[in-house]
Amino acid sequence: MALKIWFDGKLVDESEARVSVFDHGLLYGDGVFEGIRFYEGRVFRLQAHIQRLFDSSKAIMLKLPWTQEELCKNTCETIQANGLRDGYVRLLVTRGVGTLGLSPDSCPTPTLIIIAASIQLYPDSDYEVGLKVITCSTRRPTHGSLSPQVKSLNYLNNVMAKVEAVRAGGREGLMLNEQGYVAECTGDNVFTVKNGVIYTPPVSDGGLDGITRGVIFELAAQMEVPIVEKTMTRFDIYTADECFLTGTAAEVIPAVELDHRPIGEGVPGPTTARFIEAYRELVRNSGTSIEAM
Ligand code: PMP
Repeated sequence: MALKIWFDGKLVDESEARVSVFDHGLLYGDGVFEGIRFYEGRVFRLQAHIQRLFDSSKAIMLKLPWTQEELCKNTCETIQANGLRDGYVRLLVTRGVGTLGLSPDSCPTPTLIIIAASIQLYPDSDYEVGLKVITCSTRRPTHGSLSPQVKSLNYLNNVMAKVEAVRAGGREGLMLNEQGYVAECTGDNVFTVKNGVIYTPPVSDGGLDGITRGVIFELAAQMEVPIVEKTMTRFDIYTADECFLTGTAAEVIPAVELDHRPIGEGVPGPTTARFIEAYRELVRNSGTSIEAM
């Protein structure tokens, strides 16, 4: 069934949602995006995602002509227009239409696109068996380049890293920063469990400040499981008892191998299982109702 897309201020048929070849989002990957999940008619952490979209925009000096409330409302309207109750919604803002030159000064108006669809990133079996992860040679960009905190439309670095991981027999790729410390995976944050303590790298080590990552900290506090931010190397993952990844699309998913070496027993661990359960419980019992907006 053809989707209804939010495009330039209104809902249009998928076939009418077309971007100009002069849009700097296309020409230069100049723009920002968010991926958000909704469950049983409720959008999970909607405000946090919209806030991150605004932060990414601010960091690239892309002034958004909408309020956060308007974007929340448009997101819910798009979900409703497609008759969806469970799925994934992608918001993107491009710099807009300009000339062929690099400068965004030629782009007076950003383009807002909202796509709501049903997705399942990983099949159920991956949650039961766990993912195999491969270290990529492609590094996360440094803070001296575009900040790794900006969720920009140019994901080519992560795309190439993902290709590497898949070609090497992995389902996800582990990305290191320029110093060789663990940053994150190509589309997920990374956590280990060792002797009952959860560890994850600080976002200053190059990972995205994931919304799901933040939820893990909240759940750990509620469940009274100690959690620590620690600069990590691959050694810490090779020698961990458990490892799991987090992301809006993937939720919480076990990782059982790194570079073809088993992590712990090479099977999903008990702490990971508890967090998968707690996360699933939370997403089904919270969120912004799509009808309320
Ligand atoms: N890192 C990267 C590079 C990502 O693209 C994502 C997905 N947005 C994440 C981590 C996880 O972030 P979140 O939990 O906010 O989806």
